Amino acid sequence: KEPATTNFLRNLIEDDLANGVNLPRYWCGHPAPYSEQQDKGSPDVAKIRTRFPPEPNGYLHIGHAKSICLNFGLARDYGGYCHMRFDDTNPVKEDQEYVDGILDSVKWLGFSWEHGEEKNLYFASSYFEDMYRFAEHLIKTGYAYVDEQTADEMRENRGTLKEPGVDSPYRNRPADESLRLFREMRAGKHPEGSMVLRAKIDMASPNINLRDPAIYRIRFAEHHATGDKWCIYPMYTYAHPIEDSLENITHSICTLEFEDQRAFYDWALERIIPVLRAPQYEEARQVVAQMAAGMNDRAEAFIRKLAASAAKLGQSAPERQMAGILAAWNQNGIPDMNDQSVLQVFALLNRFPENFTPILQAALDVVRPNFFLLSHQYEFNRLNLTYVVVSKRKLIQLVTEGHVDGWDDPRMPTIVGLRRRGYTPESIQRFAERCGVSRVAGGWIDYSVLEQSLREDLEERAARRIAVLRPLKLIIDNYPEGESETLVADNHPQKPEMGTRTITFSKELWIEESDFAEVPPKGFRRLTIPADGTPAKPVRLRYGYVIVPTSVEKDAEGRVVAVHAEYLPETKSGTEGSMSVKTKATIHWLDAKTAVPAEVRVYDRLFCEAHPDAGEGNFLEKLTPNSKVVLNAFVEPALANVAPDDKFQFERNGYFVADRVDHKPGAPVFNLSVGLKDTWKK
Ligand code: ATP
Ligand code: MG
Ligand code: MG
Repeated sequence: KEPATTNFLRNLIEDDLANGVNLPRYWCGHPAPYSEQQDKGSPDVAKIRTRFPPEPNGYLHIGHAKSICLNFGLARDYGGYCHMRFDDTNPVKEDQEYVDGILDSVKWLGFSWEHGEEKNLYFASSYFEDMYRFAEHLIKTGYAYVDEQTADEMRENRGTLKEPGVDSPYRNRPADESLRLFREMRAGKHPEGSMVLRAKIDMASPNINLRDPAIYRIRFAEHHATGDKWCIYPMYTYAHPIEDSLENITHSICTLEFEDQRAFYDWALERIIPVLRAPQYEEARQVVAQMAAGMNDRAEAFIRKLAASAAKLGQSAPERQMAGILAAWNQNGIPDMNDQSVLQVFALLNRFPENFTPILQAALDVVRPNFFLLSHQYEFNRLNLTYVVVSKRKLIQLVTEGHVDGWDDPRMPTIVGLRRRGYTPESIQRFAERCGVSRVAGGWIDYSVLEQSLREDLEERAARRIAVLRPLKLIIDNYPEGESETLVADNHPQKPEMGTRTITFSKELWIEESDFAEVPPKGFRRLTIPADGTPAKPVRLRYGYVIVPTSVEKDAEGRVVAVHAEYLPETKSGTEGSMSVKTKATIHWLDAKTAVPAEVRVYDRLFCEAHPDAGEGNFLEKLTPNSKVVLNAFVEPALANVAPDDKFQFERNGYFVADRVDHKPGAPVFNLSVGLKDTWKK
């Protein structure tokens, strides 16, 4: 694993952890909210919480992978939590199939949202009731109104970058009236598009997102989780800060397009937090009031909370002692504050704070109003990758119009597609790390960076095998008919620990069509028979013998269908004579007697232009013609019964994976994952 790249988010989180800014903080005894040491002792020390919030309206793509690696990676590296949250607030395009597919992809990439007791799998739709409640609160406090302008009027009156917007005629209607209409909207009394709920902020704000954005709209649509319970749905920008707050997210990380939305995120939370945290505020207010009445009362409230937490105590000596005291209190009532046992409890808390963090937490959540966490949004640069499109809308179009064979087509930039192509989770993590994270928008990562990440991974771990993709018969005329011999081949040239396997050699072999040339281009060093009658050049058959081509057989159309050659018996690989004849080329081959037929799918890039969705024309016009070629190849016997998803280097041909859907034992199907070198020509 490569060392994690330092980036601005890491710096920010490290600062937050060091200063306790933005994190639930501990009371006396725990001035530093986070340290490795404390982490080991207590599960409840302040921790960061991030989230990955996809909308379940498609499969995840390589851009999402960047966000997954970032959010889950930060939580992992700083001992925090990353929530898996479905942002399913839009009923129209969402589906259970996508929910399942997304969970599967995140798991496959190597991440988990479960963290001990915390399951951390959330659905934004489960917060609809809270979101509604907060919306009523905004109306009642004068921060939202029901607008009955048409969509066109609203757009018209929003203004432009240069010109301020125009107030809606409904902007100053009484709160009561908005409240009544909003409740009617919920009750289904108004048709779609007839009215929306808008935040009341500032129609002249230089930030257009603050010009009274819509926060609720009417949609008579069946929701995949809530069915027809709702006919009004919150807008993403309103829903998101609420989701984050309800889950105590500390760092809400999104892409830079949302930068201008941050002001609204903060605006909404500032107004909603008092309701969101109302129960805690209420208790905190009482404590503060009691504090005013004197030290004993504050201590008493605190002590009551402690007593209620007795069950959380563990088995260490101070905890057992504390448990004994609290049990007595729970049985006999809270003693006088000057009682010896109260002093004992304070002494225990002060001497062994790490043993009592859970109960301190429970007690102090109530006593310290400034404990309450405020979620913050931070933005980073989205991934733009050349030669693909990553907009879900366009990916859906590729699938539904049949330009590819489904979401998991190996040419697709989806995680399921990359997986089927032979990408490993490690190669995608490596790629994400390499892309880095910054606040500079608009950069592009070249597709070859993705391919190189896979190549490096497979170079290390893929066993070498032989496949002849476009077979041409080679007949060794001087090799005895009916005879055969066994040769040994390394599984990895640099890794003897990966072992060897055997291959057979006999009179008839398969070689690559392209390793013979009737009319050789300049510099061609493989098999050819000079037209001028000069002797042909010897070529080595890998793991076998040196051969010299002698003649060809052609079919009626003049195509070469077989090459004849003679082998030099003294040149067998691994023997003393192997170097006795100099050769300028080595080619791979398979014994025609033992080779196994296989379907091999060779893929090109899906698009032939670097920026298919930019510039003139439809992105579909930039699809590479014939980006999938299916070959009737031969593979060595060792490849006949491998498991789906097994990955190999086919010598000289590239890295290949046994197709996870179509490959069957005895009927092998392989996909080209990536070539041996970056040979892409622009
Ligand atoms: P699309 O626009 O293709 O529909 P989306 O951005 O709406 O995708 P979501 O499911 O809403 O997709 O995104 C989930 C998370 O993935 C978001 O936090 C978003 O920032 C992140 N994400 C999506 N695309 C990219 C990308 N290209 N690079 C980095 N992060 C991305
Ligand atoms: Mg989205
Ligand atoms: Mg998007």
